[in-house]
This record gives sequence, structure tokens and C-alpha cells, in this order.
Amino acid sequence: MTSDGCPLCERDVAGALWANDRCFVIPAEIAGVGTICRVVWREHTREMSDLDPLARGVFMDVVFGVEAVLRDLARPAKMNVASLGNLVPHLHWHVVPRYLDDAYFPDAIWAPARRTAVERPLNGPVLRAALAAVLGNGAKTLL
Ligand SMILES: [Zn+2]
Repeated sequence: MTSDGCPLCERDVAGALWANDRCFVIPAEIAGVGTICRVVWREHTREMSDLDPLARGVFMDVVFGVEAVLRDLARPAKMNVASLGNLVPHLHWHVVPRYLDDAYFPDAIWAPARRTAVERPLNGPVLRAALAAVLGNGAKTLL
């Protein structure tokens, strides 16, 4: 893996909410929504179908673990899980709690805002602990 100025390769993974040797979880605060998470594959890989089935399974287990944690902590009306990745060479999934009164509902969070909304930030240490409880300590995978 070469960074070549890639913002995700150069990101300090020590600041991630959770990490293993294949992927890491970082939070983001989205205006009009609150805290979401991104699950980022560490290697430069263009498409999910470029991963072998075992790697895909490992990746998606983390994505759905994050979904379960956010669902439990945020109590949203709906969870959105999306992979776009048009701007960086890392596969990554956005795991987004949605609320009936968030700024964009029922559209995607990348759509124009429909309303002003109260944001629902999540407590970082609580989120980190919940991820560790569901995903484990980030020990090496078997890949
Ligand atoms: Zn990179």
C-alpha cells in the first residue's frame, strides 16, 4: 500500500474508534444529522467485487457490527448503509443513523436539506466502548 498523499492512508488510525489489520472505523459529524461512522478498508481497492469472499465477509461483519452499535446507541428511525467511494481509493461504508426530523429525511444525507434540524452527536468514549464490545479488541483477522 502506498499513500501518495492519500488522506485515508495518512490518517492516524490510532484515533479511530476501532481498528483491526484490515479496516478501521472513524466517526464523522454530519450537519443536520449528528454522528455517523465510516468503515474504511485499509488497502487501496476499487470495488467490493475485487475483494475475495472471505475478505468481503470480514469487512461486512464490521460494517453490520457498526450498524448494530449505532442502532442501539442512537435509536434512529432507520439505518442507512452506503458505499460510494468516488473520491478516495479506499472502499468505505457510511453507516448513518436516520431520524424522521433530520435535515434530509427521507432523502439521502447527501441530498439538499429539507429542514433545519437538531443534531444528535454521540459520545465518543461510549461509542468506542460499544464497538469494542460488539467487534472485539481489533486483534488480527485470519486473513
Ligand atoms: Zn489510501
